[in-house]
Amino acid sequence: MTTEPISANAVIGADHPNDGRPGLVDPFGRHVSYLRVSVTDRCDFRCVYCMSENMTFLPKRDLLTLEELNRLCSAFVGRGVRKLRITGGEPLVRKNILWLMKSLGCHLETGALDELTLTTNGSQLPKYAADLAACGVKRINISLDTLNAGRFKEITRWGEFSTVMDGITAAEKAGIAVKINAVALKGVNEDEIEDLVRFAHGRGADLTLIETMPLGDIDGDRTDQYLPLSIVRARLMDRFTLEDIPYRTGGPARYVHVKETGGRLGFITPMTHNFCESCNRVRLTCTGTLYMCLGQDDAADLRVPLRASSDDAPLLAAIDQAIARKPKGHDFIIDRRTKKPAVSRHMSVTGG
Ligand code: SAM
Ligand code: SF4
Repeated sequence: MTTEPISANAVIGADHPNDGRPGLVDPFGRHVSYLRVSVTDRCDFRCVYCMSENMTFLPKRDLLTLEELNRLCSAFVGRGVRKLRITGGEPLVRKNILWLMKSLGCHLETGALDELTLTTNGSQLPKYAADLAACGVKRINISLDTLNAGRFKEITRWGEFSTVMDGITAAEKAGIAVKINAVALKGVNEDEIEDLVRFAHGRGADLTLIETMPLGDIDGDRTDQYLPLSIVRARLMDRFTLEDIPYRTGGPARYVHVKETGGRLGFITPMTHNFCESCNRVRLTCTGTLYMCLGQDDAADLRVPLRASSDDAPLLAAIDQAIARKPKGHDFIIDRRTKKPAVSRHMSVTGG
């Protein structure tokens, strides 16, 4: 992949003024306005494409405290980040997660932040949906790869379909807009994509389809799971009229309007269509490591400057240096000759 900077007048993602806050701009002119934070690498599910069943997790002592995560996120907000997505692992299994959500929600009240959101498997939403709404969460991504309870168990290994359904209902009742995320898996749920479209749109939810990415070792072979979304899209066009629309959520999905259902359908295609040109995101792990790209190994340790001083100056300097190294894009490839994952860390570490 080439690394020439794009021209300075082609600034991408500069859709928000920074209210005088110094913004984070990478060498390619992309404004970094979106931070994804993995608050834990642990999870109550063991999805087959995400992790192996006997996954080894980070020792708890390596995790940043919630206070430290709050300080780190707030530093990014101070540097112009307008959108925070809390993820994991399963973010809602982190103890006292509501404290962090509430603290970060304060930035919504001041207007420094446009959106505080989260990606979840839905298992804890029956318990937390109302509290999350009270923290200012207005939209939420819930992962759901199948509508069949038996298949759900096969995919998630430890998940309970009915609990996730209750979670979706609880979020809707709390007034949170739900987006369903489904990973397209060859031979597993490819016959259900149309049903997932009808299910999500029937509830007034958007649906986003995701290609499997080669992140971390899993028990199986990824070539067996990989289903290009170009194929899924072509199949859906036999059933539905798909109209391209310019709708964007600040993430990498490209959307279509489905004429027959009236709903929105997103495609996240890191493998078949490079989504890097408009990347406005960086990812923070629960140990304070900042990944400037989901698909590259280069990272910055923010835990050291965070702990070195109660003054934010060293931390802010480390953030600036990291953004100056944001690469142009990833080099994902899944084929029979490339058996090793493109990057060794799992999605649950970097945060989906
Ligand atoms: N546990 C939460 C969940 O499942 O929504 C949040 C973390 S999970 C890592 C975030 C998203 O990444 C989920 O939608 C999941 O399906 C997706 N994901 C996990 N591993 C993936 C992989 N190897 N390729 C593509 N998507 C993946
Ligand atoms: Fe857990 Fe989400 Fe990974 Fe599934 S995709 S194992 S729910 S972190």
